[in-house]
Amino acid sequence: MGETTKIAISAGIQVGGSLFTPEQLAKIGSVVGMDAKIEMTPFKQLYAEVPIERRDAIKEELEHYGLEVYPAGFVTKSLIACNFCKGAEEAGLDAARTLNKTIAGIETPTPLKIGYAGCALGTSEPLLKDIGVIKMRDTFDIYVGGEPKGLKTSFAKLLVSGLTEDRLGPVVTAIIDFYKAHAKGKEKFSKFVDRVSLEQLRQIAG
Ligand code: SF4
Repeated sequence: MGETTKIAISAGIQVGGSLFTPEQLAKIGSVVGMDAKIEMTPFKQLYAEVPIERRDAIKEELEHYGLEVYPAGFVTKSLIACNFCKGAEEAGLDAARTLNKTIAGIETPTPLKIGYAGCALGTSEPLLKDIGVIKMRDTFDIYVGGEPKGLKTSFAKLLVSGLTEDRLGPVVTAIIDFYKAHAKGKEKFSKFVDRVSLEQLRQIAG
């Protein structure tokens, strides 16, 4: 294999969680090749090393099978959503899918994990994500700055509550843009939140 690049493959946001069909898994195996390494990441994406010159063709082929392909590395990961056990409507499947389209794969100073939970039970652990979105009845709450790694762990803190669905994408995008513009080098998002303060971020989230 010549020069390679890593791609992130996701099963997409759906009721039941991160479900791959046998056909999709077989397809991934056949397009990346028998000696490729496929990594299961903790954020519901599969990482696979592919030849750079075949990247676009592979992406197209996998998308044809209903899979989603994103860049790996220093980007926002695809939305880490729950299993929507309360059903598509009550748990906000459409809102989560729209949010995923808006935020997945944006280049960022450090990899950003954005979580989504369809209810306050939060089984997808939204408070352990950089940005956590939780559906509360008909509106959404956004938490920021969760840090699950290392010895100084912390839960994300409530930034805004009562957001309507149409405001979700713009608000999360505004937070990401502000982080991109003002992070000091590769400053971790949780540290950034502490430094700039929730008050300032609330103004950005407007
Ligand atoms: S967060 Fe709520 S809706 Fe989503 S899977 Fe967990 S319990 Fe079900």
